[in-house]
Amino acid sequence: MVKKAGVLGATGSVGQRFILLLSQHPDFEIHALGASSRSAGKSYKDAVNWKQTDILPQSVHNIQVQECKPEGNFKDCDVVFSGLDSDVAGEVEKAFVEAGLAVISNAKNYRREKDVPLVVPIVNPEHLDIVESKVKKAKAEGKNTGYLICISNCSTAGLVAPLKPLVDKFGPIDALTATTLQAISGAGFSPGVSGMDILDNIVPYISGEEDKLEWETKKILGSINKERSEIVNIPEDDMKVSAQCNRVPVIDGHTECISLRFKNRPAPSVDEVKKVLSDYVCEASKLGCHSAPKQTIHVLEQQDRPQPRLDRERDNGYGVSVGRIREDSLLDFKMVVLSHNTIIGAAGSGILIAEILNAKGLI
Ligand code: NAP
Repeated sequence: MVKKAGVLGATGSVGQRFILLLSQHPDFEIHALGASSRSAGKSYKDAVNWKQTDILPQSVHNIQVQECKPEGNFKDCDVVFSGLDSDVAGEVEKAFVEAGLAVISNAKNYRREKDVPLVVPIVNPEHLDIVESKVKKAKAEGKNTGYLICISNCSTAGLVAPLKPLVDKFGPIDALTATTLQAISGAGFSPGVSGMDILDNIVPYISGEEDKLEWETKKILGSINKERSEIVNIPEDDMKVSAQCNRVPVIDGHTECISLRFKNRPAPSVDEVKKVLSDYVCEASKLGCHSAPKQTIHVLEQQDRPQPRLDRERDNGYGVSVGRIREDSLLDFKMVVLSHNTIIGAAGSGILIAEILNAKGLI
């Protein structure tokens, strides 16, 4: 059965990507759209300042944008995706969960909560067990429960994708550095990055971003407790992560130059690292989810790849590209990672999480 989907923050950078992905999706139909009071009451086509290269889908032109309240069409959504600004996401998402709705959020507000899974669906879908046990417990008591799942920061999503299969195979990583080159769509559309700031330029600061990369990695690669109620982060002392984040004049696609060291000796060879990355099949692919990448990690051998314009659309933006894998003179290895920030780094992750929940009968 096709599930009814709502989108909060539907007019923004992430919201527009949700519209594009949902409008072509066989398992979901757009049922409710929400944004600020500036947009509420207008048809979507009049409310939105559409900035995607794909044409605004005809099917959403005349959907009326609502206030972000768990009322009206939102009330009977099977799943609600949030692309809300963090200034407002906290209260709005809380109200939706309290109203019994399943909310998948891109905002940072609840990512640190131990009982809220922080999920990159091609990396740690097992953290969704928290939601599964909550839903099953409520059902056993004859109740319905709302819940919240957070999607990671866009640059964290690309970073953890290659780390997961490496840690699974070779054991813990104890030191990691990441220098990011992040696209302007990651800064949102209201107001977004001005042309004067970014043309012919690089901005070596993104507010709060380095901290997110450093701690989110430890939660996403962390474990779930035996009661399946909380995530246990990798302890600070076990894994040192150092990030530097830059905004660059690219529209979509975050590039990250990373170096890492394994705890165990001897370290694997470059060929072993490449093989583990190429062989990795994410859980969503095994479940046969519609949007799951055919190849989760694309290992590129050309010396000048990955590049955002050429590689960001691999597997429709759900695949992650890794190139220039080589030994590092300070740590063990270095490599360049590229991921689509509004697909696997945001809206696409939300949709793939919903597909996993749907496959498990949780929505
Ligand atoms: P954005 O382009 O600025 O969009 C913000 C959205 O929030 C718009 O739909 C806006 O509606 C709505 N909004 C603003 N104030 C509101 C209010 N008072 N009540 C209800 N709705 C309100 O931002 P974005 O880049 O899409 O980011 C959305 C969220 O996702 C943020 O929390 C961001 O940190 C996170 N995120 C973004 C990316 C990315 O690549 N862009 C990746 C991962 C996570 P109006 O149009 O009506 O103002």
